[in-house]
Order: sequence, then C-alpha cells, then structure tokens
Amino acid sequence: MGRLTVVVRERWIAAVCGVLMSCGVVRGVAAESTKPNIIVVFCDDLGYGDLGCFGHPTIHTPHLDRMAAEGLKLTQFYSAAPVCTPSRAALMTGRLPIRSGMCSDKRRVLFPDSGGGIPDSEITLAEALRQQGYATACVGKWHLGHLPQFLPTSNGFDSYFGIPYSNDMDRIAEAPKGRESFWKPESRYWNVPLMRNEKELERPADQTTITRRYTEEAVQFIKEHREEPFFLYMPHSMPHVPLFRSDAFAETSRRGLYGDVIEEIDWSVGQVLDALRTHGLDSNTIVWFTSDNGPWLTFKDHGGSAGLLKDGKGTTWEGGMREPTLVWWPGTIAAGRASAELGTTMDIYATSLTLAGGSLPADRVMDGVDLAPTLLHQQPSPRTEVLYYRGTRLMAIRKGPWKAHFMTQESYTGNNELVQHDPPVLHNLEVDPGEQWDVAADHPEVITMLTEAAAAHAATVEPVPSQLEIPLSKK
Ligand code: MG
Repeated sequence: MGRLTVVVRERWIAAVCGVLMSCGVVRGVAAESTKPNIIVVFCDDLGYGDLGCFGHPTIHTPHLDRMAAEGLKLTQFYSAAPVCTPSRAALMTGRLPIRSGMCSDKRRVLFPDSGGGIPDSEITLAEALRQQGYATACVGKWHLGHLPQFLPTSNGFDSYFGIPYSNDMDRIAEAPKGRESFWKPESRYWNVPLMRNEKELERPADQTTITRRYTEEAVQFIKEHREEPFFLYMPHSMPHVPLFRSDAFAETSRRGLYGDVIEEIDWSVGQVLDALRTHGLDSNTIVWFTSDNGPWLTFKDHGGSAGLLKDGKGTTWEGGMREPTLVWWPGTIAAGRASAELGTTMDIYATSLTLAGGSLPADRVMDGVDLAPTLLHQQPSPRTEVLYYRGTRLMAIRKGPWKAHFMTQESYTGNNELVQHDPPVLHNLEVDPGEQWDVAADHPEVITMLTEAAAAHAATVEPVPSQLEIPLSKK
C-alpha cells in the first residue's frame, strides 16, 4: 500500500469520525487520542470482605459489583502499611514509607498536634502527573500533614476539598467519653475542619453529608475538566469510625450503620462512573477502587470485615493490608475477570505515570512497578515481592505464594506485645490465605530464601528522620 493511500485513508477515517461525533454517534473519540484520565477512589479502613463482589452476604453494592463485572477484580492487592498516614504516603510517592520518613514506632499516624508531613523532596503522583499536563484534584481525607506546606495544594494538586486528617481526631472535651461517642456519633463531637484548598470552610465538618459532598465535588471536577487529561484522587473519609451517612442512606442496609456507610460509598462510585459515561470519558479513563488498610476490628459492628483473611487494621496479617481492589477501563481492560496477580498501591503510581507517558524518577529508590501489562494484556505481574511494614519494622515478607513473619504484633487490643519468631512463621498464602497453618518446619529452604530477600531489601533502606515524631511547636 502506497504512502498516498495511507494518508487518504487516515483523512477519510478522521472525516467520518468527525461527522459521527458531531451527530453524537461516537463519544470520546477525541479524548481517546489523548492521555487517559486517572481516578483513584481510596476508602478508609474498608475490609477485604465488605463488598458484595468480594463476598459480603448482606452489604448491597450494585455499583461496585457492576464496576467489577465491567472491569478487573484484584484478589491479591496490598496497601503498603496497615494504618492511614504511611499507607497514603506510599500511594502518593510510589515508595515505602520507610524511605520518606512517613512512619514511626512511637506515633503510628499524623495527629492535629503533629508538625511534620510529606517531605518536599518527595515527588507526589499529582506532581508527576501535572508534569504530564494533567489537571489534578484531591477530594477527601488527606492525612499527609495539615500545615500549609504539606496540604494537597502544596503537593501537586490544583484543588483540594476535604478533611486534613482522620474524622475521629480533635474530639471535644464535652463529647461522651471513650467509645461512647462512637456508638452514637454526632459530627459536633469531633472538631475536624472541612477545607477548600488552604482555607477552612466549616468546623466542625458536618460528617453526615460528607460522602455526598465529596461525590458532588468529584462529579463537578470531571465535568469541568472533560476536555483535558485529569487525575482525581478521591480518598473517602469513610468507613473510618465515627461512622456517618446522609439521610438518604439512613437505616437502609441489613448490615446496620456500617452497611449504610458502605452503600453510600457504593452510590458515590456509581455517580462517578455515570459522570464518565455522560461525558463520553468512560473509554479513556482508568478508575481504581481500593482501601488504605484493613478493617478496624475492635470497633465491632462499627468496623468492617476482612472476610477470610486474618486480623485487620494495624497488623501485618493479611487482613491488615490486603485490600478489595477493582480496576475499570472499559474497552481497554477486559471485563469481568478476576486476577490473583500481585500488586500494591505503590504500583498505582508507576502504572499511572507510565500510562500518562512519563517515566519514574531515576534519582531515588522507587518501590512501585508498572502493572499495565498485567491489567491490559493479562501478563504475569512484574511484582514478585510484598513487604509488610509496621512503623519502621519489616515484620514479614512475601515472595510468590510464601509469606514469612519475622515478628507479629496484635493491634488495638489488650495484648500489644511484639513477638519475635525464630524461625519465622511461614504460610503458603495461595493455599492458606487465612494464615492458619505454620509450615516453616517443612520448608527450611523457603525460610532461607525469604530471609535473604528481607536482608537484600534492608540493604536498600537509608535512615531518614521520622515526620510523624515532629511536634507542632517546632515547625
Ligand atoms: Mg485507614
């Protein structure tokens, strides 16, 4: 075929597409020639077993179930830490929190009296995508520092609407003591600010409407930026306790208040995906849905369920860090599949940047890998290893199906003792995802392999100061 023929054919195709688009027959053709939009919906303390499509018997999640049916369900996908701040730092930097100082053994997360936050030297995903021409917005709970220099708008986001730290912080003295204030929560018990960019909009934030307002904000952002590539980071405040939902979801779920909250998040995801369809962006947008850590089990029916996994938030058992994860990109990611390939939230960084046409920073250790070949072409995951940190301690490591616990520690319970294991406790997670049977005695060669892998990783870690231990007054 001659060169002239090719040129004529391309012009003919372009002309036909233009006519079809003007008639509304073909949506999103123009957008498809550009970089994909990227949306990350990040829940707070959602358990592995809390969605219909992940097996919950009474929580009703039709929109997430549809997202799974139209997309990909990842059954072995991990956060990089079992609590909020370090987990979010890893997602935003593509690096383990031990490398940025966004972890500590003394204070597990940032608090309103913290003076630290995400270091300026880190290149956030928003900064990296903005370099690639993306409009960027953060809608939800940040928790990477509440001082101006740490807020989303100082870290690559064009706009921010949300709360700067957890919804259970800043509890007022007049609130019922202990957990009483959680069992019958009222927004006024927690003096948490709702912010737009660097300014307080409302304090205390009305938490009953917060999921709905995040959703409206997200839908508006999609509409306003439909003509350019965008990155929308949507870290919900829920279902972190205290639990709140709007009136429309009051007492609708058979799972009680926690179920109401999840069902409102499910509605929210439906609104976001509908907005993409309405604006013809569905075929040019990759949407991730996952969580920052596992369920807060000691809050009983106000906490979620890790399903068949062991334990929950705060621990390095599977229930603390394996997250219910969906990836949706109609027409590009095959519909209705489940994959047990390994992935972590740090890989969202590497994957997004690659899809946007960028490359990973070369001047630092990056812990994320590009999952695009796995998501798009069903190739084996390039990730072969999962590192389970609690604060600064490497508690466990996974390679292939094998996970060795060097240390274990319960969380938020009476027994909070750090237990060392020599030999390590060993599980084959593909056979035993619930970590029930220690098979270390049968596999000394696996113990050796994992111990060496942990040592090789440790050699890449350089000590940095902890941001979580900096008091407010010193900054
Ligand atoms: Mg959390």
